[in-house]
Amino acid sequence: MKFVGASSLFAVTPGMAADTTTPHIVVVGGGFSGATCAKYLKMWGGSSVNVTVIETNPTYVSPILSNLVLNGQKTISDLSFTYGDLSSKYAVNMIHSTVESVDKTNQSLTLANGHSVKYDKLVLAAGMDFIKVNDYDVTKVPHAWKAGEQTNLLKAQIDAMVDGDTFTMTIPPAPYRCPPGPYERACVVADYLKNVKGFANCKVNVLDANAKITVEADTFGAKFAEYGVEYKPSTTVTAVDDSTKTLTYTENNESKTLSSTVLNVIPKQKAASIVFKTGVNSGNWAPINPLSYESVLTSGIYIIGDSQGTGQPKAGHIGNSEAKVCADAILRTLNGVTLYDSPKTNSACYSPTSST
Ligand SMILES: Cc1cc2nc3c(=O)[nH]c(=O)nc-3n(C[C@H](O)[C@H](O)[C@H](O)COP(=O)(O)OP(=O)(O)OC[C@H]3O[C@@H](n4cnc5c(N)ncnc54)[C@H](O)[C@@H]3O)c2cc1C
Repeated sequence: MKFVGASSLFAVTPGMAADTTTPHIVVVGGGFSGATCAKYLKMWGGSSVNVTVIETNPTYVSPILSNLVLNGQKTISDLSFTYGDLSSKYAVNMIHSTVESVDKTNQSLTLANGHSVKYDKLVLAAGMDFIKVNDYDVTKVPHAWKAGEQTNLLKAQIDAMVDGDTFTMTIPPAPYRCPPGPYERACVVADYLKNVKGFANCKVNVLDANAKITVEADTFGAKFAEYGVEYKPSTTVTAVDDSTKTLTYTENNESKTLSSTVLNVIPKQKAASIVFKTGVNSGNWAPINPLSYESVLTSGIYIIGDSQGTGQPKAGHIGNSEAKVCADAILRTLNGVTLYDSPKTNSACYSPTSST
């Protein structure tokens, strides 16, 4: 499908020629959902749209497969991607800066680099953020749930463990990024310590805020039994002490503490901060129309990927599907065409549980 024609909307991006007739679609975030949306907007919209991605980092580090950095099967560089193809193959404009605020009245974004960018349609594809229980230091208690430096920090802590040490991780209440990911991590780390390092006396604890393993329970349950992982469901973390690596948590309405050599707290999650700054959240996530991913709170603003507030899982694969539905819907809207009434999205996660 190729859309033609343009509205008479106005858009200006710094360093680019002003074009007074071609709609300017700005995508905030160049992760799985944002990069896909930008690509399909240009593939399907061609020269009828100008598309700009504003992304903080020049290199994207994929969280997918990042648990395999912990056991040495992958490196962060294996999971790192740049944006050259988006510009050279699809004529997407790239700006590397952080969007600090959105002026919905003037349809303008303010960037950390001091520039402002006008948009006709805005896609927020900014991932997710954390809700920490207290202000502890994430360099001492890494989450490693955004891949990159955090993943390397956690790997270094695991590699410094000696036989008899303890690794404890916590799983936040659903919804969170990558439903099977935490269980996968527990398996990968337990296998690494016991079978690769040969540490028969290391202990792996998993404290899960959910009442049971949320996905693939048979597979992960069997692996936990095989590796001797101690799994505690329905546990809520109430405090993290980064200096003593001690957790305070509740289990069966009782407050308990647990100290560990390595503490990997994956905090509770919410939509990315730019979603809150834009005022398109309701509670922790952004409510959208699933036919278009347009905000139900502000027209012309679309939210895809982890920040969207449907019941769909928060995963890269489905973020890619959402991005295509959104790109199609934006182009239909710009061209006065009715939205497709039954878009389908799907999701599959690849879950390694050992190094073999
Ligand atoms: C260990 C692990 C394993 C996983 N495995 C799988 C798997 O097997 N399959 C699967 O489908 N999913 C998996 N996932 C989940 C997947 O990685 C995420 O769901 C996916 O990355 C979400 O895509 P996104 O585009 O919403 O956000 P992201 O990929 O986080 O991209 C958001 C981008 O927005 C940028 N950004 C944020 N705010 C701003 C701003 N204000 N201005 C400019 N840029 C901004 C960020 O820098 C980032 O690059 C896994 C996740 C983890 C942690």
